[in-house]
Amino acid sequence: MSVVFDNSDSTTGPARNSHRRVVMTTCQAHGAAGFTNLLMTKEDGGIVLNPHVANCCVLRLDEQAATALHDVLGEWLG
Ligand SMILES: [Zn+2]
Repeated sequence: MSVVFDNSDSTTGPARNSHRRVVMTTCQAHGAAGFTNLLMTKEDGGIVLNPHVANCCVLRLDEQAATALHDVLGEWLG
């Protein structure tokens, strides 16, 4: 049940679907061209992180990894 976007898809609009969020970030690898949209999708048993919303590199976090990330961010942002 993955969603495929093309580059013309407007991801900057409201993305309030409860299983999808777009976070504005900066890509240090590809980057000086401004912000990078990070698409986060909640799927069964995991969370998928799709920087650039272009499927060039897609990270899938299982529940354990997502929990670890959550804990670290919580600690750092505390
Ligand atoms: Zn990049």
